Amino acid sequence: MAQQKMIRTKEKCRYINDLGQGVITYQDTNYVVNGLLEGEEAILDLSTINRKYGNIIELKTKSNDRINVKCPYFLECGGCDLLHMSYEKEISFKKQLVQNAFKKFDRLLKVSDVIKADNPNNYRNKLQMTFKLSKTKKVVSGFYEEGTHKIIPVKNCMIQNELGNSVMDNINLALTKNKILPYDENTHKGVIRHVLIRVGVKTNEVMVVLVTASDLFPGRNNFVKTLLNLDKRITTIIQNVNPRDTSIVLGDKERILYGPGFIYDYLLGFKFKISSKSFYQINPEQTEKLYEKAIELADIKANDVVFDAYSGISTIGIVASKKAKQVICVEQNKDAVKDALLNIKVNRINNVSVFNDDSTEFIKKIAPTNPKIDIVFLDPPRAGSTKEFISEVCKLNPRKIVYISCNYKTLVRDLEYFEGYEIKNIIPVDLFPRTVHVETVVVLSKLNTKKTYQH
Ligand code: SAH
Repeated sequence: MAQQKMIRTKEKCRYINDLGQGVITYQDTNYVVNGLLEGEEAILDLSTINRKYGNIIELKTKSNDRINVKCPYFLECGGCDLLHMSYEKEISFKKQLVQNAFKKFDRLLKVSDVIKADNPNNYRNKLQMTFKLSKTKKVVSGFYEEGTHKIIPVKNCMIQNELGNSVMDNINLALTKNKILPYDENTHKGVIRHVLIRVGVKTNEVMVVLVTASDLFPGRNNFVKTLLNLDKRITTIIQNVNPRDTSIVLGDKERILYGPGFIYDYLLGFKFKISSKSFYQINPEQTEKLYEKAIELADIKANDVVFDAYSGISTIGIVASKKAKQVICVEQNKDAVKDALLNIKVNRINNVSVFNDDSTEFIKKIAPTNPKIDIVFLDPPRAGSTKEFISEVCKLNPRKIVYISCNYKTLVRDLEYFEGYEIKNIIPVDLFPRTVHVETVVVLSKLNTKKTYQH
């Protein structure tokens, strides 16, 4: 293959795109450059021309928004996008991203300031890493390089919980000591594929889930013994079996190797059981702010029936239950539903019920009975909700609908499906500092159409 010629040019960054990359224009073509901020000039190598992707050779002028990157893996890892940007700038950048997404609506909609994190580092209570063998034959954990299956070893990830990071080191040691080999996707040899650590930030309970390529885990007992000797903070260890070659980390089958097989954590004073496969927000400190805001703006009255769709382990439903007469939760994942049922019991709550169903199917089933629903929370995954779900919800005439979204792109798509409602608030919440991701809460109120006909 012919060697690609280097295209070396000095350019100025025009703006930052929604992936956090700097954008420059060279000979009428836009190129994206990781790690370049708006207004900065740099000597770039644009030789990877097909990908319209440039690399910084030398930064010539520095933006006032630039900070020193403390993470040595920043440009390779791809987990964080904004480590080179001050947190203040990140917050205004995220507000702008949400504002831009809402531009498609005719009416000028006001986006509130982003609810900031007090500490933008070490917030992730869930650590998910993959293993490889180092040159010195030690097991090391890391992340895939952006867009590839090459593992970049990472120690002390800056956005992961510190207790989790140090447990991760001990897992690597215990695997190395017991000569348990990482699974190789190409040769299909080896045992361990991934590890998932979950930390109950308020309880200090630690769950370790080791994902193996098959049921076989030679040296399992010795490994568990070594790990528990190295680290007394681990409260449960689980083996998860995932034989499939997919990017999904967890398989279906599990075996508890130590402890109860789950952990607890607290949110807003309520106790929550979390098992390996249930969804639980990864930034608990910001989640408390998110739920408080969402519930405050929902303005729940004592006689209200609340519907919590895409409810996970019923965190929102349980917190909201204190204000409402009744709460109905619907969640598709059966493990999350099991956790939710226990959470209702543990918190001695008697006005919350949970249904294990697809949200759209569920609402289609209950709609014909025209149930009283006053307030709706919906908190779907990144793919968003469905037109059918939203139409059915609107027909039930709830007073307020609170849409919580981790993807403003599907959020603005879905907002067009609401009929008879107006947007009252748009509040971004920084649940994912140092990345381009941002959570958004939208509060919708029933349009008072009667008023229009009153005179
Ligand atoms: N509200 C919860 C969970 C939000 S995450 C919290 O704040 O923790 C989204 C949840 O939707 C996940 O638990 C996922 O399992 C669930 N889910 C995904 N698709 C669904 C569907 N079609 N119907 C019901 N639940 C679904």
